[in-house]
Amino acid sequence: MEQKCPRCRTVNVRAARFCAHCGLSLRAGSGGQVAPGRIRHPKPASPPDGFHACRDADHLHFRWGPAYGDSFLLGTEGIAVFLFNGAYPLEEVVLELSGKDDTGKARFSVTQTVEALPVGQEVRIEIPSYELSNELAAPVRELDVTLVSAEFSPES
Ligand SMILES: [Zn+2]
Repeated sequence: MEQKCPRCRTVNVRAARFCAHCGLSLRAGSGGQVAPGRIRHPKPASPPDGFHACRDADHLHFRWGPAYGDSFLLGTEGIAVFLFNGAYPLEEVVLELSGKDDTGKARFSVTQTVEALPVGQEVRIEIPSYELSNELAAPVRELDVTLVSAEFSPES
């Protein structure tokens, strides 16, 4: 049996732990998948303090806060999300972002595509205020970021 590298498409023997051509780890990661964003890196870069793990992803992290200013004043302000990729360079990264208020009630869920997530850099995305439903809702207190899909960057 053989296995195809999801990054460079080289066919490797099934028992291979790393791709013979590009060196990608062929061990399954999150969800038992060998897919971009779901492969454990042998030496991942650690995220800065304050980052949380993204769901269904290996070595993808995020932190978040108000898009403007230091604190949330109303329930309607845009949200800035900073992403940190500690493993293999990715592009076309589709993420689902969902927020809850104080009471644990779901406030919104949006899907965003990030063009590129290089390794070891913070990439800022924003959830604009018009995506946050409910004008009079309580501020968002909890944010979840889930990896939906991604591609490997070709230059990597
Ligand atoms: Zn490969």
